[in-house]
Amino acid sequence: MPEFPRVDDALLQRLDVPIPRYTSYPTAPVWSEKVGRRAYSAALAEAGKRTEAPLSLYLHIPFCRERCSFCGCNVVISRSTAGADAYLGALVREMDAAAELLGDRRSVSQIHWGGGTPTFLEERQIESLWTAITRRFRVLPDAEVAIEIDPKVTTLSQLTLLRKLGFNRMSMGVQDLDPAVQEAISRIQTAEKTREMLDGARALGFRGINFDLIYGLPRQTPASWARTIAQVIEMSPDRLAVYAFAHVPEVRPNQKRLPLSELPRGADKLELFRIAWEAFTSAGYRPIGMDHFARPDDELAEAQARRALTRNFQGYSVRAASDVVAFGVSAISDVGGVYAQNTHSIARYKDAIADGELATERGFACTADDVRRRGIITQLMCNFHVDLGASAAQEFGGELARLGALEAEGLVSVKGAEIEVTPLGRIFVRNVASIFDAHLCVGQRLFSRAV
Ligand code: SF4
Repeated sequence: MPEFPRVDDALLQRLDVPIPRYTSYPTAPVWSEKVGRRAYSAALAEAGKRTEAPLSLYLHIPFCRERCSFCGCNVVISRSTAGADAYLGALVREMDAAAELLGDRRSVSQIHWGGGTPTFLEERQIESLWTAITRRFRVLPDAEVAIEIDPKVTTLSQLTLLRKLGFNRMSMGVQDLDPAVQEAISRIQTAEKTREMLDGARALGFRGINFDLIYGLPRQTPASWARTIAQVIEMSPDRLAVYAFAHVPEVRPNQKRLPLSELPRGADKLELFRIAWEAFTSAGYRPIGMDHFARPDDELAEAQARRALTRNFQGYSVRAASDVVAFGVSAISDVGGVYAQNTHSIARYKDAIADGELATERGFACTADDVRRRGIITQLMCNFHVDLGASAAQEFGGELARLGALEAEGLVSVKGAEIEVTPLGRIFVRNVASIFDAHLCVGQRLFSRAV
Protein backbone atom coordinates (compact mmCIF):
# COMPACT_ATOMS: atom_id res chain seq x y z
CA MET A 1 0.00 0.00 0.00
CA PRO A 2 1.49 3.41 -0.94
CA GLU A 3 2.33 5.83 1.85
CA PHE A 4 0.16 8.84 2.58
CA PRO A 5 1.53 11.63 0.36
CA ARG A 6 3.46 14.50 1.90
CA VAL A 7 1.59 17.80 1.63
CA ASP A 8 3.72 20.91 2.13
CA ASP A 9 2.25 23.93 3.95
CA ALA A 10 2.23 26.22 0.90
CA LEU A 11 0.26 23.69 -1.18
CA LEU A 12 -2.16 23.11 1.68
CA GLN A 13 -2.78 26.84 2.00
CA ARG A 14 -3.44 27.19 -1.72
CA LEU A 15 -5.87 24.26 -1.89
CA ASP A 16 -7.66 24.42 1.49
CA VAL A 17 -10.42 26.74 0.27
CA PRO A 18 -14.24 26.42 0.44
CA ILE A 19 -15.16 23.91 -2.22
CA PRO A 20 -18.15 21.61 -2.97
CA ARG A 21 -18.24 17.93 -2.07
CA TYR A 22 -19.93 17.27 -5.42
CA THR A 23 -22.67 14.97 -4.13
CA SER A 24 -24.50 16.64 -7.02
CA TYR A 25 -23.49 18.61 -10.06
CA PRO A 26 -24.45 21.40 -10.40
CA THR A 27 -24.28 21.85 -6.63
CA ALA A 28 -27.25 22.90 -4.48
CA PRO A 29 -26.48 26.67 -4.21
CA VAL A 30 -27.04 26.92 -7.99
CA TRP A 31 -30.56 25.45 -7.79
CA SER A 32 -33.56 27.75 -7.74
CA GLU A 33 -37.29 27.94 -7.17
CA LYS A 34 -37.79 28.27 -10.93
CA VAL A 35 -37.54 24.49 -11.06
CA GLY A 36 -40.34 23.27 -8.83
CA ARG A 37 -43.30 20.88 -8.74
CA ARG A 38 -44.21 21.21 -12.39
CA ALA A 39 -40.71 20.38 -13.64
CA TYR A 40 -40.40 17.46 -11.22
CA SER A 41 -43.84 16.04 -12.16
CA ALA A 42 -42.87 16.20 -15.83
CA ALA A 43 -39.54 14.48 -15.08
CA LEU A 44 -41.34 11.67 -13.21
CA ALA A 45 -43.86 11.19 -16.03
CA GLU A 46 -41.04 11.09 -18.59
CA ALA A 47 -39.06 8.67 -16.39
CA GLY A 48 -42.14 6.43 -16.27
CA LYS A 49 -41.60 5.65 -19.96
CA ARG A 50 -38.30 3.90 -19.17
CA THR A 51 -40.23 0.97 -17.73
CA GLU A 52 -37.33 -1.49 -17.65
CA ALA A 53 -34.86 0.64 -15.68
CA PRO A 54 -34.86 0.11 -11.90
CA LEU A 55 -35.15 3.07 -9.52
CA SER A 56 -33.35 4.15 -6.36
CA LEU A 57 -35.67 5.24 -3.56
CA TYR A 58 -34.65 7.52 -0.70
CA LEU A 59 -36.83 8.10 2.37
CA HIS A 60 -35.95 10.87 4.80
CA ILE A 61 -36.88 10.35 8.45
CA PRO A 62 -35.99 13.70 10.03
CA PHE A 63 -36.52 12.87 13.71
CA CYS A 64 -33.80 12.66 16.37
CA ARG A 65 -34.12 12.48 20.15
CA GLU A 66 -31.34 15.04 20.72
CA ARG A 67 -29.45 17.55 18.62
CA CYS A 68 -25.71 16.80 18.29
CA SER A 69 -23.95 20.15 18.12
CA PHE A 70 -21.76 19.21 15.11
CA CYS A 71 -24.74 17.99 13.05
CA GLY A 72 -25.13 19.25 9.47
CA CYS A 73 -28.45 17.52 8.73
CA ASN A 74 -32.02 18.79 8.56
CA VAL A 75 -33.57 17.27 11.72
CA VAL A 76 -36.61 17.57 13.97
CA ILE A 77 -35.90 17.00 17.66
CA SER A 78 -38.61 15.06 19.46
CA ARG A 79 -38.86 12.86 22.53
CA SER A 80 -42.12 11.27 21.44
CA THR A 81 -42.62 8.93 18.48
CA ALA A 82 -46.37 9.63 18.27
CA GLY A 83 -45.80 12.76 16.16
CA ALA A 84 -44.10 10.66 13.51
CA ASP A 85 -47.39 8.98 12.52
CA ALA A 86 -48.69 12.04 10.70
CA TYR A 87 -45.34 12.45 8.95
CA LEU A 88 -45.34 8.81 7.85
CA GLY A 89 -48.87 9.29 6.49
CA ALA A 90 -47.59 12.20 4.39
CA LEU A 91 -44.66 10.08 3.16
CA VAL A 92 -47.09 7.42 1.95
CA ARG A 93 -49.24 10.00 0.16
CA GLU A 94 -46.13 11.41 -1.49
CA MET A 95 -45.22 7.90 -2.62
CA ASP A 96 -48.70 7.54 -4.13
CA ALA A 97 -48.32 10.80 -6.06
CA ALA A 98 -44.90 9.81 -7.45
CA ALA A 99 -45.97 6.24 -8.22
CA GLU A 100 -48.95 7.49 -10.20
CA LEU A 101 -46.70 9.67 -12.36
CA LEU A 102 -44.21 6.81 -12.78
CA GLY A 103 -46.94 4.55 -14.17
CA ASP A 104 -45.61 1.01 -14.69
CA ARG A 105 -42.04 1.87 -13.77
CA ARG A 106 -41.87 0.32 -10.31
CA SER A 107 -38.82 -1.96 -9.95
CA VAL A 108 -36.25 -0.83 -7.41
CA SER A 109 -32.56 -1.76 -7.10
CA GLN A 110 -31.68 0.49 -4.17
CA ILE A 111 -33.56 1.77 -1.13
CA HIS A 112 -32.04 4.03 1.49
CA TRP A 113 -33.63 5.27 4.70
CA GLY A 114 -31.70 8.25 5.99
CA GLY A 115 -32.16 11.06 8.43
CA GLY A 116 -32.22 12.24 11.08
CA THR A 117 -32.48 8.87 12.74
CA PRO A 118 -34.64 6.27 10.95
CA THR A 119 -34.52 4.01 14.03
CA PHE A 120 -36.19 6.81 16.00
CA LEU A 121 -39.35 5.09 14.70
CA GLU A 122 -41.16 2.42 16.68
CA GLU A 123 -41.23 -1.08 15.23
CA ARG A 124 -44.89 -0.77 14.20
CA GLN A 125 -44.02 2.43 12.31
CA ILE A 126 -41.02 0.81 10.60
CA GLU A 127 -43.13 -2.14 9.55
CA SER A 128 -46.00 -0.06 8.18
CA LEU A 129 -43.65 2.20 6.20
CA TRP A 130 -41.93 -0.84 4.68
CA THR A 131 -45.30 -2.35 3.77
CA ALA A 132 -46.29 0.92 2.10
CA ILE A 133 -43.14 0.81 -0.03
CA THR A 134 -43.56 -2.80 -1.11
CA ARG A 135 -47.24 -2.22 -2.00
CA ARG A 136 -46.20 0.46 -4.46
CA PHE A 137 -42.80 -0.67 -5.70
CA ARG A 138 -41.22 -4.00 -6.68
CA VAL A 139 -37.99 -4.50 -4.72
CA LEU A 140 -35.59 -6.57 -6.87
CA PRO A 141 -34.18 -9.71 -5.22
CA ASP A 142 -30.60 -8.37 -5.21
CA ALA A 143 -31.55 -4.82 -4.21
CA GLU A 144 -29.35 -2.90 -1.81
CA VAL A 145 -31.63 -1.95 1.08
CA ALA A 146 -29.82 0.32 3.50
CA ILE A 147 -30.58 2.19 6.68
CA GLU A 148 -28.69 4.73 8.76
CA ILE A 149 -28.78 3.96 12.47
CA ASP A 150 -27.82 5.82 15.60
CA PRO A 151 -26.53 3.12 17.98
CA LYS A 152 -27.59 5.22 20.98
CA VAL A 153 -31.29 4.82 20.24
CA THR A 154 -31.40 1.52 18.31
CA THR A 155 -32.35 -1.84 19.80
CA LEU A 156 -31.43 -5.36 18.74
CA SER A 157 -35.14 -6.01 18.35
CA GLN A 158 -35.35 -3.20 15.75
CA LEU A 159 -32.35 -4.67 13.89
CA THR A 160 -34.01 -8.08 13.85
CA LEU A 161 -37.19 -6.58 12.39
CA LEU A 162 -35.27 -4.59 9.76
CA ARG A 163 -33.40 -7.68 8.62
CA LYS A 164 -36.62 -9.69 8.47
CA LEU A 165 -38.20 -7.01 6.29
CA GLY A 166 -35.33 -7.13 3.80
CA PHE A 167 -32.77 -4.53 4.91
CA ASN A 168 -29.28 -5.81 4.16
CA ARG A 169 -26.93 -2.80 4.53
CA MET A 170 -26.38 -0.54 7.48
CA SER A 171 -24.46 2.58 8.30
CA MET A 172 -23.88 3.68 11.90
CA GLY A 173 -22.98 7.09 13.22
CA VAL A 174 -19.88 6.75 15.41
CA GLN A 175 -17.89 9.98 14.76
CA ASP A 176 -15.34 9.60 17.58
CA LEU A 177 -15.07 7.28 20.58
CA ASP A 178 -13.15 9.66 22.85
CA PRO A 179 -15.26 10.86 25.82
CA ALA A 180 -13.86 14.43 25.76
CA VAL A 181 -14.66 14.81 22.06
CA GLN A 182 -18.10 13.28 22.55
CA GLU A 183 -18.80 15.79 25.29
CA ALA A 184 -17.70 18.67 23.03
CA ILE A 185 -20.08 17.57 20.25
CA SER A 186 -22.99 16.70 22.60
CA ARG A 187 -23.07 13.08 21.52
CA ILE A 188 -22.30 10.50 24.20
CA GLN A 189 -22.07 7.01 22.72
CA THR A 190 -19.98 4.32 24.39
CA ALA A 191 -17.75 1.94 22.45
CA GLU A 192 -19.71 -0.92 24.04
CA LYS A 193 -22.98 0.29 22.53
CA THR A 194 -21.36 0.67 19.10
CA ARG A 195 -19.90 -2.81 19.34
CA GLU A 196 -23.23 -4.29 20.46
CA MET A 197 -24.95 -2.89 17.34
CA LEU A 198 -22.15 -4.04 15.04
CA ASP A 199 -22.09 -7.57 16.43
CA GLY A 200 -25.88 -7.73 16.38
CA ALA A 201 -26.09 -6.56 12.75
CA ARG A 202 -23.41 -9.02 11.69
CA ALA A 203 -25.08 -11.95 13.41
CA LEU A 204 -28.32 -11.06 11.59
CA GLY A 205 -26.59 -11.11 8.20
CA PHE A 206 -26.23 -7.41 7.36
CA ARG A 207 -23.37 -6.85 4.88
CA GLY A 208 -21.30 -3.80 3.97
CA ILE A 209 -21.70 -2.46 7.52
CA ASN A 210 -20.33 1.05 7.62
CA PHE A 211 -19.11 3.34 10.42
CA ASP A 212 -19.24 7.10 9.90
CA LEU A 213 -16.27 8.83 11.53
CA ILE A 214 -15.50 12.56 11.49
CA TYR A 215 -12.10 14.22 11.75
CA GLY A 216 -11.63 17.87 12.61
CA LEU A 217 -14.02 17.82 15.60
CA PRO A 218 -13.24 19.92 18.67
CA ARG A 219 -10.78 18.39 21.19
CA GLN A 220 -9.55 15.75 18.75
CA THR A 221 -5.79 15.34 19.15
CA PRO A 222 -3.51 13.01 17.18
CA ALA A 223 -3.27 10.76 20.25
CA SER A 224 -7.00 10.66 21.03
CA TRP A 225 -7.89 10.12 17.37
CA ALA A 226 -5.32 7.30 17.03
CA ARG A 227 -6.97 5.59 20.02
CA THR A 228 -10.41 5.90 18.37
CA ILE A 229 -9.06 4.47 15.12
CA ALA A 230 -7.39 1.56 16.93
CA GLN A 231 -10.68 0.71 18.68
CA VAL A 232 -12.54 0.89 15.36
CA ILE A 233 -10.01 -1.39 13.63
CA GLU A 234 -10.41 -3.84 16.46
CA MET A 235 -14.20 -3.87 15.90
CA SER A 236 -13.55 -4.35 12.16
CA PRO A 237 -16.55 -2.89 10.30
CA ASP A 238 -16.70 -3.64 6.54
CA ARG A 239 -16.59 -0.01 5.47
CA LEU A 240 -15.62 3.35 6.88
CA ALA A 241 -16.56 6.85 5.88
CA VAL A 242 -14.03 9.29 7.34
CA TYR A 243 -15.50 12.72 6.71
CA ALA A 244 -13.83 16.06 7.19
CA PHE A 245 -15.93 18.03 9.65
CA ALA A 246 -17.85 20.62 7.63
CA HIS A 247 -17.94 23.70 9.83
CA VAL A 248 -20.67 25.87 8.33
CA PRO A 249 -22.29 27.77 11.24
CA GLU A 250 -23.93 30.23 8.80
CA VAL A 251 -26.00 27.33 7.43
CA ARG A 252 -26.20 25.22 10.64
CA PRO A 253 -26.59 27.56 13.63
CA ASN A 254 -26.43 24.57 16.06
CA GLN A 255 -22.69 24.45 15.25
CA LYS A 256 -22.31 27.81 17.02
CA ARG A 257 -22.42 25.78 20.28
CA LEU A 258 -19.09 24.10 19.46
CA PRO A 259 -15.97 25.30 21.29
CA LEU A 260 -14.41 27.10 18.33
CA SER A 261 -10.95 27.50 19.84
CA GLU A 262 -10.66 23.72 20.11
CA LEU A 263 -11.34 22.98 16.42
CA PRO A 264 -8.33 21.48 14.59
CA ARG A 265 -7.73 23.30 11.30
CA GLY A 266 -5.43 23.25 8.27
CA ALA A 267 -2.32 21.10 8.77
CA ASP A 268 -3.57 19.83 12.17
CA LYS A 269 -6.80 18.64 10.58
CA LEU A 270 -5.01 17.02 7.66
CA GLU A 271 -2.75 15.22 10.14
CA LEU A 272 -5.85 13.57 11.63
CA PHE A 273 -6.84 12.30 8.20
CA ARG A 274 -3.28 11.01 7.65
CA ILE A 275 -3.48 9.06 10.93
CA ALA A 276 -6.76 7.45 9.86
CA TRP A 277 -5.53 6.76 6.30
CA GLU A 278 -2.32 5.08 7.43
CA ALA A 279 -3.98 3.06 10.19
CA PHE A 280 -6.83 1.79 8.01
CA THR A 281 -4.67 0.95 4.99
CA SER A 282 -2.11 -0.80 7.26
CA ALA A 283 -5.00 -2.84 8.67
CA GLY A 284 -5.87 -4.01 5.14
CA TYR A 285 -8.64 -1.56 4.16
CA ARG A 286 -8.59 -0.10 0.63
CA PRO A 287 -9.08 3.65 0.26
CA ILE A 288 -12.30 4.29 -1.68
CA GLY A 289 -13.01 7.59 -3.38
CA MET A 290 -12.08 10.69 -1.46
CA ASP A 291 -12.68 9.66 2.13
CA HIS A 292 -13.98 6.08 2.40
CA PHE A 293 -12.30 2.75 3.16
CA ALA A 294 -13.48 -0.80 2.53
CA ARG A 295 -12.24 -4.33 3.09
CA PRO A 296 -10.60 -5.66 -0.12
CA ASP A 297 -13.40 -8.21 -0.65
CA ASP A 298 -16.14 -5.58 -0.21
CA GLU A 299 -18.05 -4.80 -3.42
CA LEU A 300 -17.05 -1.12 -3.25
CA ALA A 301 -13.34 -2.03 -3.36
CA GLU A 302 -13.93 -4.49 -6.19
CA ALA A 303 -15.91 -1.89 -8.18
CA GLN A 304 -13.25 0.77 -7.72
CA ALA A 305 -10.57 -1.67 -8.94
CA ARG A 306 -12.64 -2.05 -12.15
CA ARG A 307 -13.20 1.75 -12.31
CA ALA A 308 -16.93 0.99 -12.05
CA LEU A 309 -17.68 2.73 -8.76
CA THR A 310 -20.47 5.28 -8.77
CA ARG A 311 -22.03 7.68 -6.32
CA ASN A 312 -25.25 9.49 -5.53
CA PHE A 313 -26.59 11.53 -2.60
CA GLN A 314 -26.56 8.41 -0.45
CA GLY A 315 -22.85 7.75 -1.00
CA TYR A 316 -20.69 5.38 -3.02
CA SER A 317 -22.50 2.42 -4.54
CA VAL A 318 -22.33 -0.30 -7.15
CA ARG A 319 -26.11 -0.42 -7.60
CA ALA A 320 -27.09 3.23 -7.86
CA ALA A 321 -29.89 3.52 -10.40
CA SER A 322 -29.92 6.37 -12.89
CA ASP A 323 -33.01 7.91 -11.25
CA VAL A 324 -33.36 8.59 -7.51
CA VAL A 325 -36.91 9.24 -6.31
CA ALA A 326 -36.81 10.76 -2.83
CA PHE A 327 -39.57 11.21 -0.27
CA GLY A 328 -39.82 13.37 2.81
CA VAL A 329 -38.92 16.78 4.10
CA SER A 330 -35.77 18.25 2.43
CA ALA A 331 -35.34 15.04 0.37
CA ILE A 332 -33.60 15.40 -2.99
CA SER A 333 -34.75 13.52 -6.10
CA ASP A 334 -32.61 13.19 -9.18
CA VAL A 335 -34.76 12.08 -12.11
CA GLY A 336 -33.93 12.34 -15.80
CA GLY A 337 -31.47 15.20 -15.30
CA VAL A 338 -33.78 17.16 -12.96
CA TYR A 339 -32.83 17.69 -9.33
CA ALA A 340 -35.87 18.39 -7.13
CA GLN A 341 -35.60 19.21 -3.44
CA ASN A 342 -38.57 19.13 -1.10
CA THR A 343 -39.23 21.94 1.34
CA HIS A 344 -37.13 22.01 4.55
CA SER A 345 -40.19 22.88 6.64
CA ILE A 346 -42.10 19.92 8.02
CA ALA A 347 -45.29 22.03 8.24
CA ARG A 348 -45.04 23.14 4.59
CA TYR A 349 -44.22 19.56 3.58
CA LYS A 350 -47.32 18.16 5.27
CA ASP A 351 -49.53 20.97 3.88
CA ALA A 352 -48.34 20.44 0.31
CA ILE A 353 -48.87 16.70 0.49
CA ALA A 354 -52.31 17.10 2.15
CA ASP A 355 -53.32 19.32 -0.80
CA GLY A 356 -52.41 16.45 -3.14
CA GLU A 357 -49.31 18.28 -4.43
CA LEU A 358 -45.68 17.25 -4.52
CA ALA A 359 -43.56 19.17 -1.99
CA THR A 360 -40.78 20.33 -4.33
CA GLU A 361 -39.44 23.76 -3.39
CA ARG A 362 -36.37 24.18 -5.57
CA GLY A 363 -34.30 22.31 -8.08
CA PHE A 364 -32.31 22.38 -11.26
CA ALA A 365 -32.84 21.07 -14.79
CA CYS A 366 -29.49 19.98 -16.20
CA THR A 367 -28.47 20.97 -19.71
CA ALA A 368 -26.59 18.52 -21.92
CA ASP A 369 -23.38 20.32 -20.88
CA ASP A 370 -24.23 19.86 -17.17
CA VAL A 371 -24.86 16.14 -17.74
CA ARG A 372 -21.50 15.80 -19.51
CA ARG A 373 -19.65 17.64 -16.74
CA ARG A 374 -21.48 15.71 -14.06
CA GLY A 375 -20.28 12.42 -15.63
CA ILE A 376 -16.69 13.69 -15.64
CA ILE A 377 -16.86 14.88 -12.03
CA THR A 378 -18.37 11.55 -10.92
CA GLN A 379 -15.58 9.61 -12.65
CA LEU A 380 -12.91 11.76 -11.02
CA MET A 381 -14.48 11.56 -7.55
CA CYS A 382 -15.16 7.80 -7.69
CA ASN A 383 -12.49 6.25 -9.89
CA PHE A 384 -9.77 8.96 -9.98
CA HIS A 385 -9.64 8.70 -13.75
CA VAL A 386 -11.55 10.02 -16.71
CA ASP A 387 -11.18 9.83 -20.47
CA LEU A 388 -12.58 13.03 -21.99
CA GLY A 389 -12.82 11.44 -25.44
CA ALA A 390 -11.85 12.47 -28.95
CA SER A 391 -13.24 16.02 -28.70
CA ALA A 392 -11.42 16.86 -25.44
CA ALA A 393 -9.31 19.69 -26.85
CA GLN A 394 -12.29 21.48 -28.46
CA GLU A 395 -14.72 20.87 -25.59
CA PHE A 396 -12.43 21.42 -22.63
CA GLY A 397 -9.49 23.49 -23.86
CA GLY A 398 -9.76 25.94 -20.93
CA GLU A 399 -10.12 23.15 -18.36
CA LEU A 400 -7.11 21.27 -19.75
CA ALA A 401 -5.04 24.45 -19.55
CA ARG A 402 -6.04 24.95 -15.89
CA LEU A 403 -5.35 21.28 -15.15
CA GLY A 404 -1.78 22.02 -16.29
CA ALA A 405 -1.28 24.03 -13.08
CA LEU A 406 -2.54 21.11 -10.96
CA GLU A 407 -0.30 18.75 -12.93
CA ALA A 408 2.68 20.95 -12.09
CA GLU A 409 1.67 20.65 -8.38
CA GLY A 410 1.63 16.84 -8.76
CA LEU A 411 -2.15 16.40 -8.35
CA VAL A 412 -2.97 14.90 -11.75
CA SER A 413 -1.28 13.33 -14.73
CA VAL A 414 -2.76 14.28 -18.10
CA LYS A 415 -2.03 12.15 -21.17
CA GLY A 416 -3.97 13.44 -24.17
CA ALA A 417 -7.63 13.16 -23.20
CA GLU A 418 -7.00 10.95 -20.16
CA ILE A 419 -6.77 12.40 -16.68
CA GLU A 420 -5.41 10.31 -13.83
CA VAL A 421 -5.58 11.67 -10.29
CA THR A 422 -2.32 10.98 -8.40
CA PRO A 423 -2.18 9.78 -4.77
CA LEU A 424 -1.53 13.40 -3.73
CA GLY A 425 -4.44 14.58 -5.89
CA ARG A 426 -6.79 12.11 -4.21
CA ILE A 427 -6.64 14.16 -1.01
CA PHE A 428 -7.66 17.22 -3.03
CA VAL A 429 -9.90 15.51 -5.58
CA ARG A 430 -12.63 18.12 -4.91
CA ASN A 431 -10.22 20.78 -6.15
CA VAL A 432 -9.45 18.67 -9.25
CA ALA A 433 -13.17 18.09 -9.93
CA SER A 434 -13.89 21.81 -9.52
CA ILE A 435 -11.90 22.53 -12.71
CA PHE A 436 -14.91 21.09 -14.60
CA ASP A 437 -17.51 23.02 -12.57
CA ALA A 438 -18.98 25.66 -14.86
CA HIS A 439 -21.12 27.17 -12.06
CA LEU A 440 -18.53 27.31 -9.28
CA CYS A 441 -18.61 30.91 -8.07
CA VAL A 442 -22.33 30.74 -7.14
CA GLY A 443 -22.67 30.38 -3.36
CA GLN A 444 -19.05 29.35 -2.89
CA ARG A 445 -18.84 30.75 0.65
CA LEU A 446 -21.45 28.16 1.73
CA PHE A 447 -19.13 25.23 1.03
CA SER A 448 -16.89 23.62 3.61
CA ARG A 449 -13.12 23.78 3.15
CA ALA A 450 -11.23 21.21 1.07
CA VAL A 451 -9.53 19.71 4.16
S1 SF4 B 1 -28.20 11.77 15.57
FE1 SF4 B 1 -27.28 12.23 13.56
S2 SF4 B 1 -28.86 13.37 12.44
FE2 SF4 B 1 -29.47 13.37 14.61
S3 SF4 B 1 -28.67 15.30 15.45
FE3 SF4 B 1 -27.11 13.72 15.83
S4 SF4 B 1 -25.75 13.80 14.03
FE4 SF4 B 1 -27.63 14.91 13.50
